[in-house]
Amino acid sequence: MLRKRRCLVTGGAGFLGSHVCERLLNNGCAVICVDNLYTGSRLNIQHLFANPFFQFIFHDITQPLFIEVDEIYNLACPASPVQYQKDPVQTTKTCVLGAINMLGLAKRLKVKIFQASTSEVYGDPEVHPQVESYRGSVNPVGIRSCYDEGKRCAETLFFDYHRQHAVDIRVARIFNTYGPRMQSNDGRVISNFIIQALLGQPITIFGSGNQTRSFCYVDDLVDGIIALMGLDTSVNSPVNLGNTIEISMIDLATLIISLSDSSSTLIYKDLPLDDPSRRKPNINFAKALFGWTPAVSLDGGLMQTIDFYRYKVINREVVGES
Ligand code: NAD
Ligand code: UDP
Ligand code: UDP
Repeated sequence: MLRKRRCLVTGGAGFLGSHVCERLLNNGCAVICVDNLYTGSRLNIQHLFANPFFQFIFHDITQPLFIEVDEIYNLACPASPVQYQKDPVQTTKTCVLGAINMLGLAKRLKVKIFQASTSEVYGDPEVHPQVESYRGSVNPVGIRSCYDEGKRCAETLFFDYHRQHAVDIRVARIFNTYGPRMQSNDGRVISNFIIQALLGQPITIFGSGNQTRSFCYVDDLVDGIIALMGLDTSVNSPVNLGNTIEISMIDLATLIISLSDSSSTLIYKDLPLDDPSRRKPNINFAKALFGWTPAVSLDGGLMQTIDFYRYKVINREVVGES
């Protein structure tokens, strides 16, 4: 019998990581999920424990990890501004020391490694939509810097390990992604708005609400990650992965209120420091490289996500803030 490909997924108990673990198992791989449960949860992966080819290791990737695998997906890192700003030093350590350890592992094993980078490397962009060649506008000493600069340094490490040690790398700059299994207390806009709408609480708009984001449904994103990793040769540039439909936070709130049949009103709160004013990917590179383009509409993806949280609200797993 053929041995299954053993895939390491760091951050595998998180929102995106749990979907990656599930997809790899469905594709016939064995999966080793490594997570310190900082923002992740066993609940995200509990349905995978019955699979004999799924293994969970409680581990912090800022520490070395010696295991034998055939492929690495490095997703460990809190992604929500609220979460990554709680312990900013740990966030930078996760990005930088975590990248060094996972690259050291990839180098020793001579295996392919994927890095979950982010659109945050573009900061508050002056170029719109953002194309991979744009170098970004990032505050190096602000409250978002632990994440933005941490991820930028991680990219540097990936490309230096590639040039210096011939490590086979795939780096995706992921734009805002949403879907079932985002932690309800995560603080990101989609989970906040949906939970507030379902509980009939006011929807919290930060700043004017005219700032924009472009939201990608998780299944589309995972398709992109798997396709990028499926390429036979290293890609000598980061690759944007995201949806190109851009929407303001006010329009997003209105859409979620309508799709969830909510009576919530809008309230306005202070805009967090350094909050980017607009964000939208140019995905021509991913399209040309592996024919990827997101397929799920915003309405369709939001309905799936609303159903996920509705179940939690009905079962009182989410109580929200008053
Ligand atoms: P998440 O917070 O749900 O998941 C992150 C996971 O990493 C959690 O399970 C957490 O416990 C784990 N983790 C954190 N620090 C760790 C450490 N030191 N050692 C081991 N595990 C650790 O976030 P997510 O949305 O699933 O994001 C996953 C990855 O994708 C992150 O690297 C993030 O930067 C990147 N990304 C996500 C988005 C998005 O919109 N979801 C956008 C851009 C980039
Ligand atoms: N590393 C690891 N697992 C391995 C191989 C390396 O965690 O299987 C870590 C190792 O502890 C080191 C880091 O990865 O801190 C970088 O490894 P590299 O070989 O590049 O550097 P060096 O060990 O020479 O400092
Ligand atoms: N936001 C908001 N209300 C919330 C949470 C977020 O208006 O309850 C705004 C936030 O200021 C930002 C956008 O929504 O402009 C996206 O925020 P999120 O934290 O989801 O992601 P990021 O800022 O990292 O793109």
